[in-house]
Amino acid sequence: MIKTPLDEWIAGKIGVEPGVLSKNAIFSYQIAQLQKTITLAKDKSAFYRKTLAMIDPGKITDFVRFAELPFTFPQDIAENPHAFVCTSQREIERIVSLQSSGTTGAPKRLFFTKEDQELTIDFFDYGMRNLVGPRDRVLILLPWELPGSVGDLLGIALKRMGAVPIPFGPVYNTADAISCALHNRTDAMVGIPTHVLRMARHQEGEKLRNRINSVLLTTDYVPQAISEAVANRWGCSVFNHYGMTEMGLGGGVQCSALLDYHLREADLYFEIIDPETRKCVPDGEYGEVVFTTLTRNGMPLIRYRTGDISRFLPDPCPCGSVLRRMEVVQGRISGRKKIANSDFSIIDLDEALFKHNAVLDYRCRIEEKNGQEHLNVLIKATETNSVDPQEITDILRTIPAVQKGLTVGILVVNISTHWADIPISKGTSKRKIEDLRLAKQ
Ligand SMILES: [Zn+2]
Repeated sequence: MIKTPLDEWIAGKIGVEPGVLSKNAIFSYQIAQLQKTITLAKDKSAFYRKTLAMIDPGKITDFVRFAELPFTFPQDIAENPHAFVCTSQREIERIVSLQSSGTTGAPKRLFFTKEDQELTIDFFDYGMRNLVGPRDRVLILLPWELPGSVGDLLGIALKRMGAVPIPFGPVYNTADAISCALHNRTDAMVGIPTHVLRMARHQEGEKLRNRINSVLLTTDYVPQAISEAVANRWGCSVFNHYGMTEMGLGGGVQCSALLDYHLREADLYFEIIDPETRKCVPDGEYGEVVFTTLTRNGMPLIRYRTGDISRFLPDPCPCGSVLRRMEVVQGRISGRKKIANSDFSIIDLDEALFKHNAVLDYRCRIEEKNGQEHLNVLIKATETNSVDPQEITDILRTIPAVQKGLTVGILVVNISTHWADIPISKGTSKRKIEDLRLAKQ
């Protein structure tokens, strides 16, 4: 098993000899960078000048003290993004607007300097070494046309490591994407989970079998069922990447053990907190992922609440890395639902539905009618295989909450396969369950 290349990269970034990187060396570096970040933010950002007014950066000498600092919420950025900017507007190279789930509906805007973008390219360069080498031809199935977009930065990183980027963009035409992969003799690809699944399950997708060595799935929660389907169809390794625009796109990536993420620890400090008590949880316990930027100048973020659920694993990774292990993200806190008074989430649906070899995508809506809960599932099936609604209902019965609701008669399951005009999930937006019951409360 190959050790994650992130160890060597982080050793270089924090100034220790490769091979002698230790957890303590990383922690000392992170504390020093946290102090710098707090100093910069208090000095230059109108938001942090106010929220950190009482904080003396020199006194943040360990992570326990750091964990006393207030959080930053997505809503804070949506309300006044300029209050976070620490440089002059002239130095801002790229601005990204993200749809916010907050009540105001205002988009979140994120600002990056050229140096901030360089940090992302550098991470992509080393992170991609987990799965590709020099001269490998890599199909980029992400937005790439705008300078500074994720696909653009990834392309620069791949060129830097000697690989060949083949920019294509999100997969809106599956046959075209497959033909582009074949024509360009692609060795690897990076894309959105459901988009890559469409290629793997397309009738032409078989032609890529034993031609693709590795796939990186990114931007959305990656269902295990999709990773397995793609790996089995093409005979390739499927890696997960975790990141969000707020992190500077990249956050962590699986190593060859294909278990948990190794994190971008020289640029980001991660915590897992209990969203109720707001305290850090011990390693091994699930909670909300919170991160702080350690090296960003344009718009540093301190204790940013991601809304994603995961945990740190206490045991070392089999690859021999000294970096922390964070489990593959287990969905979002806002994605936790109840049906038939039992826990239910999009992950349950993903893992059940994507196992069916004709399912490409789906939409799910929960509503309440005449005292019963209705679970409406719309299935997008492959062109060559049809799906039997009864078969889908049987699959959904493997989810305990669905089984319970159907058994006691408080849940109705409606399956439709008339996908019609529902568009393919776009770009970097995360899929979610539409819950119409909330609107009534
Ligand atoms: Zn590892």
